[in-house]
Amino acid sequence: MIRQVLILLLIFVLQIPKAQTIDLSSADAFFDITTDIKSGKEISKEQWKRFEKSSVYRRFASRDNPFLINTIKESIELVFRKTEKNKYQIDSLLSISEEKIKQDRKWLLKKLIVENYININKHYNEIKSFRKEYDFESLIYKSRKKLSAFLIHPIDSLTNLKPIHFFMLNADAKNEENAIIVDLNSFYNLTDKQRVELITHEYFHNYRERFENHKFNYKSDLNYMIDMIQNEGIADMIDKAIGYEEFYSREPFTYLSPLMVKSYNSAENDLERLHKVVLQYSLNKITKDWMVDSLLNIVKFNGHPIGFYMANQIVKAGYRKQMIKTFYEPLEFYKLYNKAAKKRNLFLLSDEFMEFVFKR
Ligand SMILES: [Zn+2]
Repeated sequence: MIRQVLILLLIFVLQIPKAQTIDLSSADAFFDITTDIKSGKEISKEQWKRFEKSSVYRRFASRDNPFLINTIKESIELVFRKTEKNKYQIDSLLSISEEKIKQDRKWLLKKLIVENYININKHYNEIKSFRKEYDFESLIYKSRKKLSAFLIHPIDSLTNLKPIHFFMLNADAKNEENAIIVDLNSFYNLTDKQRVELITHEYFHNYRERFENHKFNYKSDLNYMIDMIQNEGIADMIDKAIGYEEFYSREPFTYLSPLMVKSYNSAENDLERLHKVVLQYSLNKITKDWMVDSLLNIVKFNGHPIGFYMANQIVKAGYRKQMIKTFYEPLEFYKLYNKAAKKRNLFLLSDEFMEFVFKR
């Protein structure tokens, strides 16, 4: 009997389709082009076309607005082709003023991309061998296990999570439609424990999508932001539990570091501002557009700092387990924050706010 069960189990396991879980075509296209540029060759139209067809760069190339794909291609030429003119241009880009960045956020992105590419160029051969030798399959295994350990109920072994596509842009990873996209250089710069935590963070977003309250989230911009704050706040507990200060204190995050630390330190104040703006709107004192514009200013970095601040207060007050149990339900997260805030003497969200946001 046991034998039969084992054989049946084996057949079952063999029948599970093995989806493409890792895609390195964009990272490889990046290496192909940069290797040629570094040895002084010109890049043909066909080569750029191949580059634009690889898994991640294809996403950017197919956008109506070509800003991002053009910036990527220009930055590659700028960093990997050594000329006096390029050196001069890089220097002026790196010394760009905070003022100019404030006026147009595009400058920040340009700067972050160039900084990342300079970092890649510094350890070019090492990162190339890393791409060849790293055990990506075991990364997936460990990250799934980590997500299970983080959640109260382990994920089913049959749960499909999105494939991971590597590319080079800036220090970031994102849960996108059909794939999780990860910058290979920032991934390379992490310790192996941190790499697993980074992927687990994105797997968390991916897994949470199945439970999300779509009706609530997509009802308004306000609701979407409220949900995003919970989503990022809990996810940051996976990879940034050591705190922003320590997390961002190393390459390739050094430029982002002061911004993230500052946003975290002002999170309680920002939450209070968010609360005020929503109440003003609820009393018809400001228009909807005015509210949304103000919230976009207050809720920085997709809600990470405010969310992480709230999650930290919840954990410090001893409600971690409840927070994880209801990881997809914003109402519970905001209620738990208030419980924690009462206990810890922090800014409290009013009943009017809670009624307006969650019972409309
Ligand atoms: Zn995230």
